[in-house]
Amino acid sequence: MSTKYQNLINGKWVDAQSGETFETRNPANWSEVIGTLPKSAAADVEVAVKAARAAYEKWRLVPAPARGDIMRKIGDLLVQRKEELARLMTREMGKVLAETRGDVQEGIDTAYYAATEGRRLFGHTVPSELPNKFAMAIRVPIGVAGIITPWNFPLAIPTWKMFPAILSGNTVVFKPASDTPATATALVQLMHEAGLPDGVVNIVHGGGGAVGNAITRHPDVDLISFTGSTEIGKQITKDSADTLKRVSLELGGKNAQIVMDDADLDLALDGILWGAFGTTGQRCTATSRLILHEKIYDRFMDMLVTRTKKLRLGDGLKPETEVGPLVNEGQRKTVQSYVEIGQNEGAKLVAGGHAAKGPGLDGGWFHEPTIFSEVTPNMRIAKEEIFGPVLSVLRVTSLEEGINVLNDTIYGLSSSVYTRDVNKAFVAVRDIKAGITYINVPTIGAEAHMPFGGVKQTGNGHREGGWTVYDFYTEWKAVYFDYSGKLQRAQIDNY
Ligand code: NAD
Ligand code: MN
Repeated sequence: MSTKYQNLINGKWVDAQSGETFETRNPANWSEVIGTLPKSAAADVEVAVKAARAAYEKWRLVPAPARGDIMRKIGDLLVQRKEELARLMTREMGKVLAETRGDVQEGIDTAYYAATEGRRLFGHTVPSELPNKFAMAIRVPIGVAGIITPWNFPLAIPTWKMFPAILSGNTVVFKPASDTPATATALVQLMHEAGLPDGVVNIVHGGGGAVGNAITRHPDVDLISFTGSTEIGKQITKDSADTLKRVSLELGGKNAQIVMDDADLDLALDGILWGAFGTTGQRCTATSRLILHEKIYDRFMDMLVTRTKKLRLGDGLKPETEVGPLVNEGQRKTVQSYVEIGQNEGAKLVAGGHAAKGPGLDGGWFHEPTIFSEVTPNMRIAKEEIFGPVLSVLRVTSLEEGINVLNDTIYGLSSSVYTRDVNKAFVAVRDIKAGITYINVPTIGAEAHMPFGGVKQTGNGHREGGWTVYDFYTEWKAVYFDYSGKLQRAQIDNY
């Protein structure tokens, strides 16, 4: 059954002005069309930005605790529809039901956090240097936020951005990835139902070039929050420079897990299987490199290859499935090209390596979980983000070498170390260059109330999640009250 989805602009469901459409399909069974979407363009963005701008002037005056009440309602509706949304998401992008339920749960957690933040949004009061004078700094909203998101967390990532943006008093023009527009529309529909005034949230569907670019270049869009590839992140930085927008970027990764010779190997094995092959490796925090201490290298590789070959591929809606398909044909081609690159570079293919075939697999974009051993740090498969079920394994002789290898990348999102030695763990926390470090936890598994983001070319220094994201969606206003009744000149009359 294919559903017709539309844009939401100023509280009304509408088609693209051009009348053009595109489809979203099931990557586990590509002949299944899930829905048709408006293929929008700059003209549609124009109307959406106007609506968001007009709505902003009213929304910014709604008390933050009242904005929080709507957030709580959104959280409640997400709880009610968790299963329905998870199933739609699995059909639309392929990851298994346990993971899509987790994706919705992250949205629920983010909504309830935002609801309570409506009663905080703390500012500062500080003493003035002059008598009979009062000084404080308050948070104010910024305006219209352009939200541009990828397909791998079709619900959670939009909520990380839209909920704090809206709670802070901004309004939103949202362009979801064109691989997961149905899930995004279901989310926006629910936000609209929860009682957000018309124009506070607008969704415009379409391609990155047409719709995304119109948002990033629009003079009346004040901020951009983007999650996606490093390449597009750089492009957006340039496009938004003409109007000096505030821009938050969450980009690529080449995350690694180190396993030391003193580690609990069974625990490290469960960790790497989940980190490398969960979401079919299509997570910004996926473990793409495994760094093994030489003393446990051979033993751990045997354990790892045996378990990897047993992973069950299939439709994510089936309860027995452990690994779903890649999101589309292009992603599978990218993965296949990296398998070839790894072989040409002289790495040893020890598991997988092919598009997966067989009953239940032929109609989708499945690829075998793949492992290369004897990878060296200068190989492309050790350096470049693959965004698929391909793991590169490197050998080291010490923690210090392991950390150097881990840091030898242009990215710096997530990292993991398995060790039972608390001293080694603290050295790793100190010396690893990444936005997130896990000890005895895989590289995936961020919690919604913690800062999320990376260093180096993973981003531009902003953080999502928790209290930190509110720094991005608010501007500081310094306020001085002088109740002395006379002109008091700071730095002059008091010295
Ligand atoms: P992508 O960069 O191709 O697309 C992301 C979004 O940007 C999509 O909505 C796309 O339509 C839009 N877009 C494309 N070109 C644009 C342009 N010129 N102007 C404005 N918008 C444009 O990424 P993807 O393939 O959807 O997602 C995979 C990438 O996302 C990976 O590199 C992955 O590491 C990254 N990612 C990062 C995080 C993180 O938090 N660091 C999370 C998830 C995914
Ligand atoms: Mn799809």
